[in-house]
Amino acid sequence: MPRTYKITINGQETTGENGTLNVVNPATEEVFAYASQASDNQLEQTVQAAQKAFTSWKETTLDQRKSHLKAIAIKLEEHQEELAKLITLEQGKPHNLAMMEVSAAIGWLQATIALDLPVKVIEDSAAKRIELHRKPLGVVASITPWNWPVMIAAWHIFPALLAGNTVISKPSELTPIATLRMIELIAELLPKGVINSVCGGGEIGAAISQHPGINKIVFTGSTPTGQAIMRSAAGNLKRLTLELGGNDAGIVLPDADPEKVAPAIFQSAFLNMGQTCAALKRLYVHDSIHDSLCSKLTDIANQQIVGDGMAPETSFGPVQNPKQLQIVKKLVEDAVDNGATVLCGGEPLQQKGYFYPPTLITNVDNGCRLVDEEQFGPVLPIIRYSDVNAVIKKANDCENGLGGSVWSSDLEQAVELAKKLETGTTWVNNHAEVLPHAPFGGAKMSGIGVEFGAEGLEEYTQIQVLSITK
Ligand code: NDP
Repeated sequence: MPRTYKITINGQETTGENGTLNVVNPATEEVFAYASQASDNQLEQTVQAAQKAFTSWKETTLDQRKSHLKAIAIKLEEHQEELAKLITLEQGKPHNLAMMEVSAAIGWLQATIALDLPVKVIEDSAAKRIELHRKPLGVVASITPWNWPVMIAAWHIFPALLAGNTVISKPSELTPIATLRMIELIAELLPKGVINSVCGGGEIGAAISQHPGINKIVFTGSTPTGQAIMRSAAGNLKRLTLELGGNDAGIVLPDADPEKVAPAIFQSAFLNMGQTCAALKRLYVHDSIHDSLCSKLTDIANQQIVGDGMAPETSFGPVQNPKQLQIVKKLVEDAVDNGATVLCGGEPLQQKGYFYPPTLITNVDNGCRLVDEEQFGPVLPIIRYSDVNAVIKKANDCENGLGGSVWSSDLEQAVELAKKLETGTTWVNNHAEVLPHAPFGGAKMSGIGVEFGAEGLEEYTQIQVLSITK
């Protein structure tokens, strides 16, 4: 009988009053665990607990909060294997990648602990002293998606706590288990009500976005859901950080060495089976090296061992859910119907599990749905180009603007072109690399605000200017 994972309210592991969710292993299509679903009444209790806890948590010093976070880092290290196994079972990624996900979460926690919120002196004259202070906001709700459940929850939760807020975590109904377990572990080390979890479908996310007792939402997920949250958040002017979809372009210049760049391009596009917000999702390759780069990428794709993430030989897991598998399948079918060429992959595997092999598609261009829409899965469209200025225009002809990249041996030229991309991050000879000390966020429809580093931490605070007339 699969185990039921509980929610955490006011320091207590609590059975949800709204029944349970079935959590399916995408490699087997079988239910491997249940998750307790919170009722409206329990959401209310959670908000009240978080509000009450805030009254004393906000009075703690930054150093006291850092001590708590250090203890949490040690505890998560002790439970790395357990959490990684839960991630693979619910999300599908190979176990070694799940281990990396947990260690990245701990790495982000440690980087957060190293941050400070210093008081800034704006003026100190004979007549006046003006200081800028950073105050916590209150109750922060973290709403997370199904691609990197533990790492993204860590990105949200730890800076919120360090800044002196209390937190309610709402994982995706598709991958709630590792997050619920992580919150149980964290709650053991914090005063009651400082960290809480609720679980359920989109309706609980909607109830959170409207709740007047919640002061900020940090959300990672799709643009339409981000827009819905923004509309609902207007009631009490909730602060928002929204990290939304991307359809990142990578541009390979004629002087790039296909042998050298192919492994990094493959990794950037197919990281987590392509289910990564900042993955490389459209690859523009100069005509002169198009065929040789395609051939190198195909070789790498054909070396992947697709299978259950728990099997040690697996390098490429399933797509997380059948809805996403259908999106990928339909986009590839549409491209093929419109004359695209499939270099490898191109169809779901005929076996149990949501398996779709790494797929490379050429003979496509802007205007094809596979290029224009975010596939969020294991398929990369490769677009041949000959004019660099025209390709920058094509890369920017997109409502999203999360990341973009330029690949070249001539760094100076690559940097000049990278600066022309309308994105929150532009990489040169890299893509999808996010780091705890570099702010990360989207331009255009890819989001609002940033995460990580000092700028990310400041998003969990309210400025208070203290103006003293001497
Ligand atoms: P969603 O944006 O619907 O889900 C993300 C989170 O939001 C989940 O926890 C979800 O809960 C919650 N949610 C759903 N509806 C609401 C609401 N009205 N108010 C508040 N929260 C809500 O993503 P999907 O899972 O449906 O994926 C759809 C697409 O989103 C993908 O195809 C991909 O393009 C993109 N995506 C982007 C991600 C990123 O990292 N930027 C991550 C995942 C998806 P629940 O799951 O319980 O419904």
